[in-house]
Amino acid sequence: MEKIISCCGLNCAICDARVATISNNNELRKATAEKWKVTYNAPELSAEMINCTGCREEGVKFSHCGVCEIRNCAKAKGYDTCGYCNEMETCTIVSGVHKYVPEAIQNLRSLN
Ligand code: SF4
Ligand code: SF4
Repeated sequence: MEKIISCCGLNCAICDARVATISNNNELRKATAEKWKVTYNAPELSAEMINCTGCREEGVKFSHCGVCEIRNCAKAKGYDTCGYCNEMETCTIVSGVHKYVPEAIQNLRSLN
């Protein structure tokens, strides 16, 4: 499957929120909300909130992704992704993602 790389390097193509949105799958929305409630300690999440077309794609964004500090920073600096930023190696904003998902760094490098 083709990757759809977010500003921080995550692969939106395999994100359950995007898959549920693109296929308009309410069962997957429900299951994703239940999973993310636990994973992100976010009891307020509901199936209706699981809608996202992807970080850099046109269309609806999942709540956090619409106000994401990383996404906003890259946009403000005029970069498509953090992979174009000279500060990436030392950036404390994006490091939170890269620490847990090292594959995101490879994804960004593959775009350069
Ligand atoms: S931007 Fe949307 S599709 Fe990409 S990781 Fe975030 S919630 Fe998933
Ligand atoms: S400063 Fe950090 S978050 Fe901002 S564009 Fe550069 S790497 Fe991304």
